[in-house]
Amino acid sequence: MIAICIGHSRKISGRYDGGAYSEYLKISERDFNLKVATKLSAELTRKGIPSKIFDHYAGNGYGYAMADIAEQVKKAQATLAIELHFNSATPSATGHE
Ligand SMILES: [Zn+2]
Repeated sequence: MIAICIGHSRKISGRYDGGAYSEYLKISERDFNLKVATKLSAELTRKGIPSKIFDHYAGNGYGYAMADIAEQVKKAQATLAIELHFNSATPSATGHE
């Protein structure tokens, strides 16, 4: 089973962290990656590969949230885990990452 984890899925002051924000797409990193994860999971299912989306990390603070998602992935007995992210930049940025 492949664990598809959505980055920035911990809550800070009652709201999801959300990550970077694309001014071009008008969407947060987390919301964008929820859509990517849904499509990826459907494609994996089509290929007969089980997957599960993890879109909530409990815990207060980054370290606790990382420990929580690690525990969730272990409990689900995932054989592979990926975490989806994207970065943002100013219009003057050049190059790639
Ligand atoms: Zn990120």
